[in-house]
Amino acid sequence: MRRSHDALVAANPGECPNCGELKRPHHVCGACGHYDAREVVASVKASDVDEDAA
Ligand SMILES: [Zn+2]
Repeated sequence: MRRSHDALVAANPGECPNCGELKRPHHVCGACGHYDAREVVASVKASDVDEDAA
């Protein structure tokens, strides 16, 4: 009986409103880095960070 709570629960992915990729709710989209209709994490191709700045 003690294993009655051990069943795996399926994830509940939602669609990213920016790129349409499936993402976990309340998480930043892994594909485009958007959350709540704004870019939180700069995507790799969009970033123009100067490596020699420091
Ligand atoms: Zn996205």
